[in-house]
Parts: sequence; structure tokens; C-alpha cells
Amino acid sequence: MSGIVRIIYLLAIISLGLGHFGYSNRDQHVWVKKFKSCGGKLQSPISISSSRSLALPLPALEVIGYHNFLPRPLSLKNTGHSVEVDIDNVQRSTHLPYIYGAALKANVEYVVDHLHFHWGAKNNRGSEHVLNGVRYPMEMHIVHRNKAYSNFSHALNYEDGLVVLGIFFQLQEEDNKLLSPILNDLINVKWLHKETTLDRPVTLASLLPRNTDVFYTYKGSLTTPPCSEVVTWIIFSTPTPISFTQINKFRPLSNGEAKMADNFRILQHVGLRKVYVRRLNSLLIAKYNGTTFNSTNLEWFWR
Ligand SMILES: [Zn+2]
Repeated sequence: MSGIVRIIYLLAIISLGLGHFGYSNRDQHVWVKKFKSCGGKLQSPISISSSRSLALPLPALEVIGYHNFLPRPLSLKNTGHSVEVDIDNVQRSTHLPYIYGAALKANVEYVVDHLHFHWGAKNNRGSEHVLNGVRYPMEMHIVHRNKAYSNFSHALNYEDGLVVLGIFFQLQEEDNKLLSPILNDLINVKWLHKETTLDRPVTLASLLPRNTDVFYTYKGSLTTPPCSEVVTWIIFSTPTPISFTQINKFRPLSNGEAKMADNFRILQHVGLRKVYVRRLNSLLIAKYNGTTFNSTNLEWFWR
């Protein structure tokens, strides 16, 4: 290592200690120095291929309260690595939207905690997961916490701590009006640590793709430090539409030093993990005797 490279490397490690982390290739390779989990075997994001996924007639993902307006005031903030809508906090531990079903353990519910975005500086990149070779221009994560754990930090200690819904965005000419309540306020959080209150009410349903019947699910991690391996991922196959004008509202956001765009993590190895895809074709349903598929004993890893 040359002197200058060593200094850059040390600076990257020091700033990690302060809670900052970068997305350049060099920065990402330093994450593991401070956060051991980032070098684990169950890391996210991954490249998903429909032909290599295991098709099952899984139960639907049940979403409760997704059509209700989220409790207000709702804060939107620039965290330096994304822009985030905080939904859960101490005062609101009741009546928040929650999810269950899919391949999640029976009788376990996951309440919404926050949502954030990953996007590219250009249209040919931005999403974290790659689906059938396609990297979409943006991916939204709706992060849910197992109700058995009192808060987000607590949930990070358990392998069934979090469920993250991954939603891809696909470009179209026309604006997707449903996104306006969030996008209109992005201009107010251009700078690092800026925070604002969303003017208009938001429902989570308005951010979901039109079709949520088909999804991929696997065991993975947070895609940012500390990279905790506590996430059951549910990635919808159908993207949500967004216009060119709308995605351009994300791109000027600053991380304090530069533009935040390209805040996606390098693809991680799938390793021994199984990726399931929910499919409801008649052959599959017949194979499972037409009964609701029981996901209790689902194996998540190849032996
Ligand atoms: Zn994320």
C-alpha cells in the first residue's frame, strides 16, 4: 500500500467509527473492519434469478393498515446515506401498519419501522438487488420489526428480528402522483442531517407495486453497517412506476461531501441460501394438494 492509499484507508476506518460510511468500492471494502457482520455468509443484496429460485405456492403477504394514512407528523430526513421516512417512535407503538404471512413464521407479526431509498446517479443503476440481470434505477426498503422486540436496535440481536420489503422502481414518462407526498419535500432535505415534516398524508399502499402476488424471499442482512444478519427479505417482482422528473428529485441530495446518488451496496454471494419465489400456477397448487402451503418447516439453506 502506498502512503497516500494507506492514509485514505485509515481515514475511511476512522470515519466508520463515527458512524459515517461511504459507497465507493474502497469504502465498502472497509465496512468489515469495523462491522464483522459485513463479512458474513448471509449478506445482502444479492442477484436474484427467477430460473434459479424455488417456486412454491406460498401464502400471500398480508398487510394490515397499509391503506390508512400513517400517523403524523411524519419526519423525512437526510441521514447522509439515504433519505428516510421515520414511522415508528415511542409514542406510536400502537396502530401502526404491520405484516404477516408469506414464508414468515406463523403467528409472528412485523410492525413498520421506517422506509428509505437507494438510487443511482444515472438511470442504468441504483437498486441494490438485481432481478434477472436487471438493475433498476431505484429500490425502496420498507423496514419492519418483529413485534416481540421493543425497538429496532433490540431487533438487531435476533435472526427473526426484521422483515424488509424491497420495491423496485421503473421509469415511465408520466409522473406517478402517488409518490408526490414524499418527493415534493425532498428539496427540503438536500443537505446532510436536514429533517422536515411531510406536508401531505401518506399511505404505505400508495408506494407498493400494483401487483404484490409474486415475490422473492430469502434470509439476508441489512445492506448498510452494521450489516446484521437478521433480515427476511421480501422482494416484489413487479416494480412501482416513477417518472424521469421524479427520480431526478433524489439526485441532487447531498451526503455532506458529494451527491448521495449511487448509494447501493456491491452484490453479495448467495452461498448456501435458498431463494424462494411465490407462484400460484395450477401445477404447483395441485402438487401441494390445493391446501395452503405450510411454510413452518421451510428450509432456508442447502445442506
Ligand atoms: Zn436499504
